[in-house]
Amino acid sequence: MSKEPWQEQIETILAQAGNRSDDQQTGAIAAPLYFSTAFRHQGLGQSTGYDYSRVQTPTRELLESVLATMEHAQHAYALSSGMAAIQLVFSQFKTGEHIITSDDLYGGSFRYFDQLTANYQVEFSQWDGQDYTELAELIQPNTQAIWLETPSNPTMKSIDIAKTAKLAHEHGLQLIVDNTFYTPLLQQPLLLGADVVVHSATKYMSGHNDILAGAVMLNDASVAEKLTFNLVTTGAVLDPFSCWLLLRSLKTMPLRLRQQQANAQALVSFLEKSAAVAKVLYPGQGAMISFYLAATHSVAEFLQQLKVISFAESLGGVESLLTVPDEQTHHDMPIEQRRALGITPNLLRLSVGIESAVDLQRDLEQAFAASEI
Ligand SMILES: *Cc1c(COP(=O)(O)O)cnc(C)c1O
Repeated sequence: MSKEPWQEQIETILAQAGNRSDDQQTGAIAAPLYFSTAFRHQGLGQSTGYDYSRVQTPTRELLESVLATMEHAQHAYALSSGMAAIQLVFSQFKTGEHIITSDDLYGGSFRYFDQLTANYQVEFSQWDGQDYTELAELIQPNTQAIWLETPSNPTMKSIDIAKTAKLAHEHGLQLIVDNTFYTPLLQQPLLLGADVVVHSATKYMSGHNDILAGAVMLNDASVAEKLTFNLVTTGAVLDPFSCWLLLRSLKTMPLRLRQQQANAQALVSFLEKSAAVAKVLYPGQGAMISFYLAATHSVAEFLQQLKVISFAESLGGVESLLTVPDEQTHHDMPIEQRRALGITPNLLRLSVGIESAVDLQRDLEQAFAASEI
């Protein structure tokens, strides 16, 4: 990394990621990619810093230093998926311990927490992310942490990270934030007091719907020591080629997100005026929009008619995707809970890409017109 005395802006850090990393060898502008799983030792008790690729590789180390910088963290881990990142964070906890989570969560997290309860008797309580008297009441002697996702998924409620961190720390609890939806470009949870940040890097960080990856960032050295041990032991690390692709993706992330957010804001104004839409849920920033299709329209027909936007269950990429959370991402949540949260069959979640906002609006317009009952 650069030794200049000024603090570079994030756009510069990301555009330059990997540059100057090979100056001793070749001066390559794009970071070299090391596939080697094994690294020769100069002698007994000696190491180049690399021994075996489950432990560390040069390409992953480079990516992890960029990931740490993005979240203002001392430690970062690049993992094989967002779920592997979540599992690594939970590897700190033991049978009989208790975690409080926000209630409107990524469906896969919900499914994993259920499994931890069934197999390992880890207890979970859910909080609406708004009522702090209720949050204080949920804390038990065995509570270890608060887990939250903001904006919430898919109903886009905003949760106050700083306020939650203050209450967590008064009770000796860790605050863990899944920052996938806003990314470190729009929200830096560690600066707001959170202890650990998790990302599905499959989404905005990768940005091209072509890499499965996860990340964990934190500052506490003793927690990091445990996570390093657990990751090296179990090995859900990100492979060198995906590390290299992710590093490349991060270079253009500020440009992508700026365009995605501008497109999303244009579409929110359009959707709010459309007679085919009963209600729009948008937290004010980012590029994720949820909306309820009006009862005058057929969801199945609307999905059939889309020509630019794809009916597919991911987010954050340059291509716009639309999902039906009730059927797809959140189907493992009990139906009563889905309905209580507002996850109904006509709730649609749109991940806005970098296409022309004019074309995206036209696509929605024609699909609304063709899906009237
Ligand atoms: C997709 C997602 C995950 C899981 O990440 P994978 O990369 O699919 O394993 C976790 N949290 C959120 C908010 C997500 O959108």
